[in-house]
Amino acid sequence: MLEMLSLQERFHGLIRGQILVEEPLALHTYFHVGGPADVMVFPADLGDLKLLLKTARDEAIPVLILGGGSNMLVPDDGVRGLVINLSRTFLDIEAADKRIRCGAGVRMSRLLALSAMRGLTGLEGLTGIPGTVGGAIKGNAGTPTGAIADHLDWIRVVNGLGEERVVSRDALGAGYRRTALPSGSVIVDACFTLAPATAAEIRGTISRLLVRRNLTQPVTVRSAGCIFKNPPGDFAGRLVERAGLKGLRHGGAQISEKHGNFIVNLDGATAADVLWLIERARTEVMMKTGVALELEIQVVGSPIAG
Ligand SMILES: Cc1cc2nc3c(=O)[nH]c(=O)nc-3n(C[C@H](O)[C@H](O)[C@H](O)COP(=O)(O)OP(=O)(O)OC[C@H]3O[C@@H](n4cnc5c(N)ncnc54)[C@H](O)[C@@H]3O)c2cc1C
Repeated sequence: MLEMLSLQERFHGLIRGQILVEEPLALHTYFHVGGPADVMVFPADLGDLKLLLKTARDEAIPVLILGGGSNMLVPDDGVRGLVINLSRTFLDIEAADKRIRCGAGVRMSRLLALSAMRGLTGLEGLTGIPGTVGGAIKGNAGTPTGAIADHLDWIRVVNGLGEERVVSRDALGAGYRRTALPSGSVIVDACFTLAPATAAEIRGTISRLLVRRNLTQPVTVRSAGCIFKNPPGDFAGRLVERAGLKGLRHGGAQISEKHGNFIVNLDGATAADVLWLIERARTEVMMKTGVALELEIQVVGSPIAG
């Protein structure tokens, strides 16, 4: 803690962004679960980000990059080192011809709204995915109708030495809910190429998909989206349901009654409550169906991290 205070003091004056000490991560994750970050910084710009990454590298300080926090489970005892929160940085977005270039901190809903306004189709399948564009690209977020990398041209990343690099879609190594970005690479902006369509068509598709999502997923309760990746040829939610686990409660957390692949924070859930349900679901599904479920959410600092 003393070291972290001095880290905070050193950044003062050098960093233009906000620096917080012992900041509860529950306030920055969709799950509303998780203990404090030793130090959390909201970089004001690329210069801040480079300085933070370089300092952390030089001094072997662990770094966690946080976007919207919609795909993360943070432990109850929090996160040691530096959390770089990108939800307020890199918020620029512009459309020209068939391209949209946007910063990594832009919300997915904003990207979709601009694509509809400009009559650019392709991203509608991502309707309803919360969080930032950077977080979505890192995990190649998507739905059965497509993933974000399908429409990418390139992204720009910064590494721990503060070096910038443009990575083409082909070099991203995107697959089902994953990319092959080297660890320590932070996405700062991205460019998408889309196809022309009418704004009315795009908005119609978005509305239909939102209605479907609201009917099938527990969107009004706190969660981190789907807990497990779908195994080849099947759905994790179906397997959890078949194992008879829908509605199972532990502490303040519950396997959603609406969708077997969601765990919801009903009432003051802890990370331990959620992890208990995850392990129970994995064990029961393995015993009853022989399928090993893999995590889709990021369990911060855990050996079972996805
Ligand atoms: C109700 C609900 C529904 C959901 N539905 C879907 C769905 O249909 N499909 C789907 O794929 N996901 C879904 N999710 C999960 C989640 O919304 C997505 O994975 C989302 O893209 C994560 O973005 P984020 O900004 O919140 O990332 P975070 O949760 O903040 O971070 C996720 C990972 O990305 C890394 N990261 C974040 N930003 C950057 C960056 N700029 N550079 C490098 N690494 C970065 C983090 O370190 C972490 O490893 C859902 C979640 C909820 C709560």
